[in-house]
Amino acid sequence: MTQDTRRPDGAETPEQTFLATASHEIRTPLNGILGTVSLLLETDLSPAQREYAETIRLSGGRLLDLLNNVLDYARLDASAVELEAENFCPARLCGEVVELLSPRAHAAGLDLAVRSLPSPMPGFLGDAGRIRQILFNLVGNALKFTARGAVLIDAEVIPGGLAFHIRDTGPGIAPEDQARLFEAFRQTAAGDAYRDGGVGLGLAIVKRLTDLLGGRIDVSSALGDGACFSVFLPLKQSGDAPADPLPLIGGRVGLAGLPPATALSLSASLSAMGADVSQVDASSGKMPAEVDVLLIGADLPEGAVAAMARRVASLVVLRPEDRGAIARFRALGCVGWLVRPLRMSSVAERIQLARSGADAVEEQEMASGAGRVLIADDNPVNALIARRALELAGFTVTVAATGSEALEAAARMEPDLVLMDLRMPVMDGFEAMRRLRADGFTLPIIAVSAEINPDIERRARDAGADGVATKPLDAEALRRLALRWTGRSGAIVGAA
Ligand code: ADP
Repeated sequence: MTQDTRRPDGAETPEQTFLATASHEIRTPLNGILGTVSLLLETDLSPAQREYAETIRLSGGRLLDLLNNVLDYARLDASAVELEAENFCPARLCGEVVELLSPRAHAAGLDLAVRSLPSPMPGFLGDAGRIRQILFNLVGNALKFTARGAVLIDAEVIPGGLAFHIRDTGPGIAPEDQARLFEAFRQTAAGDAYRDGGVGLGLAIVKRLTDLLGGRIDVSSALGDGACFSVFLPLKQSGDAPADPLPLIGGRVGLAGLPPATALSLSASLSAMGADVSQVDASSGKMPAEVDVLLIGADLPEGAVAAMARRVASLVVLRPEDRGAIARFRALGCVGWLVRPLRMSSVAERIQLARSGADAVEEQEMASGAGRVLIADDNPVNALIARRALELAGFTVTVAATGSEALEAAARMEPDLVLMDLRMPVMDGFEAMRRLRADGFTLPIIAVSAEINPDIERRARDAGADGVATKPLDAEALRRLALRWTGRSGAIVGAA
């Protein structure tokens, strides 16, 4: 195996270099195991063989998570960490976390949504990547420990900064356990370690990140009564206009039978859009007179849906996997549908269409990608976000955490497009691009970095990049980029 232990930018301590190298050495064969087992799962297997292969995949996935957590933890421990100061929208950041974790929530039958106050939110300056990591860990925990109900992220502008509250309807945490929760390798009950395969590092990482950002984290909970983790961060507003201004829609919108976090999130956003909101009790058969559009939960009995849809223009709110039920809801009289997690711009648009009497407007089809994309990024959260965005757009995605992993993956999967982070441990993106080109790789490589300036762009192009893109890339920007560079959006391949 090739190995390159040079420091990517000279900023790493010897401990960090050791750690990065050691973790790379563990991650490489582990990715090999995971890649092969997913290939195995695509073949004809007997039920017993399938079960064994699934167990290998599950355990391998946990081992990879664990390794990433240990690495994060040790990195935070090792030395001075540089904070980024970028302009970000807190509501959008929470939206990304929700979008990323929704498949996990929906698979577990849980509702997940975000509510922001005020709405729309002003822009802030800060290390969005680390804040996202905090939220990702806390929401991930909330989903992991909650068997039934919902998880709600409340994002709130407070004097001098931001507060995030992550509430769940899980088992809660006993008061005697709460104080030690943020120490490394702490779990509240011996059984937890068995149940989720974690080691108690997630909250220790969150605590360190919060300290690093000069903030504070609290938990309030009682056994049997859910948990609420609150993070307070001192942050300056950027002074920019809100990234996602909401349209004014007015009128009175009824909500019937929606899952609880989605209903709370909708109430707040609809009020911010100038609409009055009424909770409608589907079983009573009563409908407040002024309600002009109704948003209906997909779990209500069909009779109730049909009765309400006869009286008021109704939109049904579905999980992505329930799209197959659209025809059934149309037959019940619904004039349209919305898919969770909800984006408020689509909610506003659909409500206005429903009011205008338009019937079940077909969803605008996303231009769909095809082809293999290799993402090289050492930050597991960024990589996950990118992977999900591109997979949703139809791409097959492989993730590598270092330059050398990217070389191995490229040789194995022959990607149509490579997104190359420039700063990675073990082998940085510049070197990886040089080696890819030297090996005869001719397809597009886009260099991705938080800091793109003319000098870095020139060095990236010299190393073999066809284009550069600045982080953070949101899901839509990533999709557009991938579609353009794989020639799927009608643009000429090769145009920067
Ligand atoms: P891990 O999830 O890897 O075990 P964490 O540090 O993230 O480690 O969490 C430590 C422990 O805190 C968990 O094992 C669990 O017992 C408890 N815990 C964390 N979040 C929640 C939650 N939302 N509800 C109930 N218990 C929680």
